[in-house]
Amino acid sequence: MTSPLCLSRRRSVAALTATAAALITPRLQAAEPPRRVLTSFSILADMAREVAPAELEVTALVGVDADAHVFEPRPHDSRRLAEAGLVVVNGLGFEGWIDRLVKASGYAGPVVVATQGVAPRKAAGGHSHGHSHGHRHDGPDPHAWQDVALAGRYVDNLAAGLSARWPSLAEVIQARALAYRQRLAALDASLRTQFSAVPADRRRVIPSHDAFGYFGAAYGVEFLSPRGWVTGSEPSAAAVARLIRQIRDQGVRAVFVENITDTRLMERIAKEGGAQVGGVLYSDALSAPGGPADSYVRMMEHNARTLLQAMTPR
Ligand code: ZN
Repeated sequence: MTSPLCLSRRRSVAALTATAAALITPRLQAAEPPRRVLTSFSILADMAREVAPAELEVTALVGVDADAHVFEPRPHDSRRLAEAGLVVVNGLGFEGWIDRLVKASGYAGPVVVATQGVAPRKAAGGHSHGHSHGHRHDGPDPHAWQDVALAGRYVDNLAAGLSARWPSLAEVIQARALAYRQRLAALDASLRTQFSAVPADRRRVIPSHDAFGYFGAAYGVEFLSPRGWVTGSEPSAAAVARLIRQIRDQGVRAVFVENITDTRLMERIAKEGGAQVGGVLYSDALSAPGGPADSYVRMMEHNARTLLQAMTPR
């Protein structure tokens, strides 16, 4: 005979079993994610490697010497997202393709936005350039990493995102982030000192690509937008003439090129305007390993050296 007491005991055993299952299931779901950090582009990958301990593998969707603005994800990239433990992006509209890619991949983990908390500058308007498809010129300027002080914010966001995802590694992540922040603070101070030693009227240059607004604001360099400049197609004779006039009128010291611009045309423009071609600046991608800009710190040092050389009379 089954007593009511027995019944209620049986029920409570069933209830206990259900409770135990409920306790176990979330624990299984909270199992440590794959130790793979997938960043959107090479500069972010380098920063993440500085912060992440060796247990975490860090890669980039858009590699060295490649343009993240016009990146077109392929099925292979979708798989990489699906297999990632954490995804890190710049934000501020830099990766116009990321939302679609996350959705297509089925990746359900967090997406760390490295610029979270950065007060964005407005993108320079009035012209377009070779890779303007990716971000709108009336939106925020996404190139915040060009100010080393703001890169400190990237490091904070990376450290917080990585620590939350891999709590067992949090201590070493925080220690590495602190050491990296100290290096960045020293670099920032050194850049400020070097540029402030140059008379202000010499700190006026024309880049081939509107990516240096944050750099200019931080270190007191005037990066003039080439007026009416369209590099997507062959610039008109009138646009070339306007640019030459601008160089003369505004006392521009140097014109800079990137791998996306026609070097011969920029050389001619510089010569006719009485400026020089100051060299190659790296804005949106690192160089290949062993190149002049194969880490974020070396990229900023290279750009500063290149700019300072062009501003200093020989
Ligand atoms: Zn850019």
